[in-house]
Amino acid sequence: MNNKINTEFTALQNELLLATGASHNLEDLLRAFSHKATEKLGLSGVNVYLLASIHAVDHSADASTGYKHLIAIPDAKNPAHKNQSVNKFLTNVHPCEKDAVDFIESEGRNFVAYALPRVGSIIFELGEAGDHENTVKLLNPVIERLTYSCQALTTITDLNYQLVQNKKLEQAYEEQANQDALTKLPNRRAFRYSLYQEIANTQRYNYYGAVLFIDLDHFKNINDSLGHSVGDMLLTKVAERLTHNARAGDDVFRLGGDEFVFLLRNVGETEESAISTSQVVASRIIESMLDPLDVGDFTLHITPSIGVTIFPDKNTEENDGESVLKHADTAMYKAKSEGRNTFAFYDPEMQVTASKRLIVADYLRKAIANDELHLEFQPLYNAKEQLIAAESLLRWHNPALGNVSPEDFIHIAEESNLILEVSNWVLNAACAFASHIKQHTRMHPSFRYITINISPKQFKQQDFTEHLISVIKENDIEPDDIRLEFTENILIDNIDDAIVKMEKLLDADIKFILDDFGTGYSSLSYLHKLPIRTIKIDKSFVTGFKYKSYANKAIVDAIIAMADRMELQCVIEGIETEDDARYFIDKEIYAMQGYYYNRPMREDEFISLLKDRFLEN
Ligand code: C2E
Ligand code: CA
Ligand code: CA
Repeated sequence: MNNKINTEFTALQNELLLATGASHNLEDLLRAFSHKATEKLGLSGVNVYLLASIHAVDHSADASTGYKHLIAIPDAKNPAHKNQSVNKFLTNVHPCEKDAVDFIESEGRNFVAYALPRVGSIIFELGEAGDHENTVKLLNPVIERLTYSCQALTTITDLNYQLVQNKKLEQAYEEQANQDALTKLPNRRAFRYSLYQEIANTQRYNYYGAVLFIDLDHFKNINDSLGHSVGDMLLTKVAERLTHNARAGDDVFRLGGDEFVFLLRNVGETEESAISTSQVVASRIIESMLDPLDVGDFTLHITPSIGVTIFPDKNTEENDGESVLKHADTAMYKAKSEGRNTFAFYDPEMQVTASKRLIVADYLRKAIANDELHLEFQPLYNAKEQLIAAESLLRWHNPALGNVSPEDFIHIAEESNLILEVSNWVLNAACAFASHIKQHTRMHPSFRYITINISPKQFKQQDFTEHLISVIKENDIEPDDIRLEFTENILIDNIDDAIVKMEKLLDADIKFILDDFGTGYSSLSYLHKLPIRTIKIDKSFVTGFKYKSYANKAIVDAIIAMADRMELQCVIEGIETEDDARYFIDKEIYAMQGYYYNRPMREDEFISLLKDRFLEN
C-alpha cells in the first residue's frame, strides 16, 4: 500500500468511525452509518438485523429470520437473508454472543457479515469491483466501535424499559390492591383512604360531605336461588348503574358482598343544603333502580336500602372515617327497618328536615292541579310617589299545610324540575293579569308594568326567551308591559351564556331587573359586564335603615352613587317607615317598594288601588 492510498484509507476509516457516534437513537445511528458506508465504500447494499429482544427500536421480529430486519439498502426486495449462506450465518451466530466475521461468496454475490455482539448482525454486500480484502481491513475497527455504540444505546434503553415496566407493574399492583376484582369499582381500602382525605377537606375548606351506604334488599335470595354466577353478574350490573348515576366528582365504591357506598364531595356549606343535596342523590339512586336489570337469561328487579350521614358532624368529636362509616351503616339498617327501598338519615333531626321537604314537594306537585296557587301584587312608586309598577309574588295555600311562604317552598321546587311547572304557572298568571289591568292602567299614565320573579333553573331553559315571547303574545300584551326580576344566581354556572341570553331578551324588547343586589359576593366586579339597566338593592340593607350601622349606610350610598355613575336605575325594596322613604326620596332613586307603601295584595285589592290612585291624580 503506498502512502497516498494509506492516507485515503485512514481518512475514510475516520469518517466511518465518526458515523458510529452520530446519534443517541439506535435506529438513526445504524441508518446514518449504513448509508455512509454504502456511499463511501461503493457497496451494493447493507442489511441490518437486530436481536428480537432489543427494545431500543420499535419494530417487531420478522417470522422468517427471528430477527428484527431493521435496514435494507438498497431495498427490501432482495434482502441479504434471502441468500442461503447469509441466512446460515445469521442462524449460526444467533444470538450474537460473540464477535464473528465471515466473508461469504454465494449465488454470485459477495458479502461481509459481522455479528455485533448482543445487538445483531450487519451484512455488507460488496460491489462487483473493488478490493474486498482492503474493505474488510478498513471495516474491522469501525465495526468494533459501532458495536460499542450500539451496546451502550441498548443498555440505556433496556434500563429505561425496565424502569417503565416496573412502574407499570407497581401501578397494576396498586390498582389491584384498591380495586374490587368483580365490579372494577374502587374497594373498601380505596374508600377508607378517600373518606379520610375528604373529611380533612371538609374541615379545611368548611363545607359538608356525605356518605350514602347502599345495601341491596334480599340479595341473598337471588344468590341462593339462581346461583353465585348470576349473583355476581347482577352485582356488576348494579355497579354500572350506580356509577352512571354518580355526579361528577362523586365516587362509588364496593365495600364487599352487596354493599356499595357513595362518597359525595362538597354537598354544600350549610347543613340545610347538605341534607337536601344528599337527599336528592339518594332519591335518584332509588329511582334509578326501579328499572329491572337484564342478567343473562333473567330480568331481575332489585331495590336498595340507603343510609345517609353527613360529615363533619359539628356536634361531636367523632369525625374519623370509622365513625362516619358506622353512622352510615346504622342509618342503612334504619332504612331496612322502615320497609326497605328507601333511605334514612343517621341524625333523627336531619330525617325530620328531609321528610318535611318530601312532604312539601309532594303537596306542591299537586298544588297547580288543585288550584292552590295565586299571585299577590306589591306596588312600586317613583321618587314622586306615583304608582309605576307592581311585583307579582307567589302565594300557596294548602288545606293540610296552611299558607306556605315562597321562602319555604321555592328552593325545594328548585331542586327538582317542579320549579319549571310552577314558574310557568306564574308566568301565565302574571301576564294574564298584566293584560287584565290594561283597561284600568290606560287611564293611569304613570303606571308601566308588572314584574315577574324568574328562578335560575327557569332562566337556564334552552327555549326560555321563545317561550316567554309566546306567552306574551297569547295574553295579548306588549313586552314592555312586564319586567323580569332575577338574581345573580343565574350567572353562577356560566356567566357568558347568561349574558347571551340577556341580550336575546333585550333584542325582543323584554327588560329586566337584577334583584337582591348587594347580597352576591361579586356584585360590583361583574356588574359592568352585564347588559343591566336596573338593579334592586336587597331589602336586608334597607329595612330599619335608621338603625343600621354606619357601614351599612355607606354601602347603600356607594351602590346608589355607583348606579348613578353607570346610569343604572335603582329600585329600593323593604321600605317600612316614613323615615326610610324620606331618605331614599331625597336620593332621587328610580323606584321604591315596601310595607310602608303597601303590603303585597290580592288582584281585586290592587285594581281598587289603581282606581283610587287614578281618582287622586
Ligand atoms: P323577593 O323577590 O326579594 O321578594 C320580596 C320579598 O320581600 C317578598 O316576600 C315580599 O313580600 C317581601 N317584602 C316586601 N316589602 C317588604 C318590607 O317592607 N319588609 C319586609 N321585611 N319584606 C318585604 P315573599 O313574597 O315572601 O317572597 C319571598 C321570595 O320568594 C322572593 O323574594 C322571591 O325570591 C321568591 N318568590 C316569590 N314569588 C316568586 C315567584 O313567583 N317566582 C319565583 N321564582 N320566586 C318567587
Ligand atoms: Ca323580587
Ligand atoms: Ca329582593
